Formats: sequence, C-alpha cells, structure tokens
Amino acid sequence: MRYGIISDIHANLAALQAVLTDLGSVDALWCLGDVVGYGPDPNPCVEIVRQQVQVCIPGNHDWASIGKIGVKDFNDDAARACLWTQQQLSPANADFLAGLPQTRQEGDFTLAHGSPGNPIWEYVLSASHARAQFDRFPGRYCLVGHTHIPMIFQKEEEAKGRVRAITPQANHPFSLEKGRMIINPGSVGQPRDGRPEAAYAILDTDKALIEHRRVAYPIEETQNRMVQAGLSPKHIVRLGYGW
Ligand code: ZN
Repeated sequence: MRYGIISDIHANLAALQAVLTDLGSVDALWCLGDVVGYGPDPNPCVEIVRQQVQVCIPGNHDWASIGKIGVKDFNDDAARACLWTQQQLSPANADFLAGLPQTRQEGDFTLAHGSPGNPIWEYVLSASHARAQFDRFPGRYCLVGHTHIPMIFQKEEEAKGRVRAITPQANHPFSLEKGRMIINPGSVGQPRDGRPEAAYAILDTDKALIEHRRVAYPIEETQNRMVQAGLSPKHIVRLGYGW
C-alpha cells in the first residue's frame, strides 16, 4: 500500500493543490493536523481533507480555530489568525474538525500531531526529546507534524537504544527496516526549514520505505490572498523564505 502523508496545511490552498498533483495516485491519504490557521483558505482546505483524506487528526491550530482550546498560549499573530479562521469556518467544517480523534492507530503506525505523549501541543524537535517519546506509542512507527520540519528520529535496536536525528533528503526513499522511528513529513502550507517548497511524504508499506518530497507552488497566490484577508504581514513574508 502507498500512502500520502501530509501535515500542517494551514489553510494554504495553492500548496495543498500542488502537493495533491505531485502525489499522483495513492491508496490512501493521512493528515497529521493543523489543516487551518495562518492561511487564507480554511474552508476549501477542510473540504478537500473531508473528501480526499481517509485518516485525519487535529492540531493545536484546528482546535483553537473552533474554540476547543483558547488562544492564550499562541503568539499574537497566530492567535489573531485563529480568531479570523473561527469567523470564516462553515458550521459543517468546524464540526468536522471538532469530531477528529487526537490520535489514530493504523497498523504499525501511530498518528499524532505533536507527540504521542501530548498530541496537541508537544514539539518533538531533537533526538534527546524524541528518546522519551518512544515509550509512548505501541507500534514500530509514529508519524508527527507540528514542528513544520521534515525529520526522522530513529531508535536503533542494536545500538543500545540510541536515538539518531536524521534530516531526510527529498526524493531519496529511506528504509523503515532499521529500528523504530518517529517521522515528520514537514509542512504542506508553512515550511520552516529554510526552504519554501511544500513538504510531504510518501509511505510505501510493501517496500518498507518512506520518501520525503518537496514541491514548488505559486507562493504569491497564497500571499495575495492573505493580503486581501488582512492576515499578518509576518506570516505573509515568511512563506517566501520557509522560516
Ligand atoms: Zn502547524
């Protein structure tokens, strides 16, 4: 089976469309949360997810944008974007986000937005941080988003449980056979690893491979929509640089 793994779309419709085109045909699509927040097109993005994604979990921006958590823990610009999104979302799209379970278990894969221990809020950024997380999911692999940085944390069975942080190379499939892993596909709609292209991953369970990918998309289209919507200048600028 081939799965498209997408995360942190953040209401960036142009980026999501570019990823879906690049992805081609897969057996299923999994989404790791933050469908909305920051970006100018929350309703179209949620609608695509409702129609095309088989498994979806919520992120902190999804919950804040439907009032399920407050915005006091967000910085000012992010909080304003969540409140703007709250006004935009249709009742049906808000209901969809409200009904998503915090984690999902799909065979050997646990899906959690932040971390398996604290799915909505916790960031898994470093090998030392990832180490404790390996006790918090039952199967071999955990798929996370939230940091917007493509990453593989690998716990090597034969190396006394040492955890390595690997920055995956785009378009170079990585074997899933060596140890347990926490894998982040990066962000579709707001990459933060210094590259502006949309990020996602393709999981091939028959071949036991995960391939991280990058796709260029018309960034100015999203930036113009953000200007029209009166969204944060900082968030508009950062899309062009991937920070
Ligand atoms: Zn996010």
